[in-house]
Amino acid sequence: MTKKLVRDLSKLIGKDKVSDDELIIRLYSKNAVYMEGKAIAVVFPYSSTDVSKIVRYAYNHDLKIYPQGSTSELVGSSTPHTDGIILSFERMNRIKETNLIDSYVVVEPGVKIFELNNHLAKDGYMFPIDPASVKIASVGGAINSGSGGMQGAKYGSIRDWVLELEVVIADEGGSILRLGSKTSKSRQGYDLVRLIVGSEGTLALVTEATLKITPIPENTVIAAAFFDSLEDLMNSAIEIKKRRMDILLMEFVEDKSVDIAIKMLESKVTGVGHYLLVGVNTAVEARSRVINSLAESMKLHNSNRIYTARSMSEAEKMGLFDIRRNYYLASIRLASESRSDPFSGIKVYVEDISVPPSQLVEAVKRLRGLSEKYNLSMTLAGHIGDGNLHPVVWIEEKDESKREALVNMVSDIMMLALELGGTVSSEHGIGLTKKEGLVMEFNSKESSKAIELMKKIKRLFDPKGILNPDKMFIW
Ligand SMILES: Cc1cc2nc3c(=O)[nH]c(=O)nc-3n(C[C@H](O)[C@H](O)[C@H](O)COP(=O)(O)OP(=O)(O)OC[C@H]3O[C@@H](n4cnc5c(N)ncnc54)[C@H](O)[C@@H]3O)c2cc1C
Repeated sequence: MTKKLVRDLSKLIGKDKVSDDELIIRLYSKNAVYMEGKAIAVVFPYSSTDVSKIVRYAYNHDLKIYPQGSTSELVGSSTPHTDGIILSFERMNRIKETNLIDSYVVVEPGVKIFELNNHLAKDGYMFPIDPASVKIASVGGAINSGSGGMQGAKYGSIRDWVLELEVVIADEGGSILRLGSKTSKSRQGYDLVRLIVGSEGTLALVTEATLKITPIPENTVIAAAFFDSLEDLMNSAIEIKKRRMDILLMEFVEDKSVDIAIKMLESKVTGVGHYLLVGVNTAVEARSRVINSLAESMKLHNSNRIYTARSMSEAEKMGLFDIRRNYYLASIRLASESRSDPFSGIKVYVEDISVPPSQLVEAVKRLRGLSEKYNLSMTLAGHIGDGNLHPVVWIEEKDESKREALVNMVSDIMMLALELGGTVSSEHGIGLTKKEGLVMEFNSKESSKAIELMKKIKRLFDPKGILNPDKMFIW
């Protein structure tokens, strides 16, 4: 089977675009949190025509396709699950058109967001969706994950920034469709663009995207502060929101991760306690006034140390972003250092709930209660500007007794988000790990029929179930 498949695909699109090397397959079969699957081959298309040929072949041979960008996802959405081919978009990485007058850019799915922003910065523009994985995350992966990032407080998530998509659908001919329009207003019946955003490669393969772009703000001031009490930090954040500022980002990291990040990075920023990071867009003339207002509200809520920067570049030089950007790494380091056995593996679980920002203090209180109840270590950080929290919980792999506690704790975390009017998955997606959460969410709204509708949509787009099967739903 493997030899024939590789021969057929090589004939269709070219030998150098197909690999069945065992080690290469293994390399592409893992995601960022070491979830691992299995595949027959890895295929690297160069164009939408290549993708269409692959899909046509797959449709006619009942072959499963697992699309991938940079595999930086955290929920198992990019890992192969049963035998099939991995379709890596990494070689479709051209920026095809930049149009400043009409405020859009046309890119292939393998373009990294970081590279796109370097390209746009030359003209003073940016694409504002900035997951913390921005240096590796691809446009296609971000679109299909429905990604957000640090600037979500102002710019929302990627669903607000996709104008037009070229996609290949899983029909007999591998049809190529263009959905949406380059104009900012467009009505085309049902909004298929928005349906594909966040669909995790289960409905169609994205081969080109037209993305909205925006000017880089004239200036952003940054204030960062340490707090002994997490409640004080949250109250300071709430107070800042009430001050009617143009908030670009608002992030926090809880004390244990702060401590380890400072040591790990040999950070220029030092301090004790929980870390709050706030960025506000402002005219150059208003910088001092805004910085004073930020510092004042931090002091009012008992901050024990405050750093301020008059611009993004000054903040970068001072290292004000480093603690937040290295939160996952610090959590993994903490998990690794706290092992009872230095040779045992660790299972790290990254949560992704959101609550309305007004419920953050309560959410954090309840999360800490759950960590105590289940006796499981947890670190905590998140995008408080939009209420998105990322608790990280871990167990040692050999510790069977804690496995059940982890499952129950994760379920309780999702439940608390729902009880506080939030959601179980904000920007990382559903993949394999949040399928039950999706059911919980719709059950809690007495809307379980919504999932039945989604399954029907999946069958309409992908009647043979060849696109990223077994993801998102419990069938
Ligand atoms: C350290 C770290 C920090 C992170 N921080 C954030 C954060 O702040 N915000 C956030 O939202 N996420 C974050 N993530 C998660 C992840 O990096 C993002 O979701 C990212 O956008 C995924 O991009 P990718 O190219 O790696 O996609 P992949 O992981 O390769 O794929 C993601 C999904 O998209 C599908 N897919 C990929 N390309 C295509 C295509 N062309 N057509 C159809 N389907 C496709 C895949 O099948 C999969 O379902 C973080 C991850 C890490 C490791």
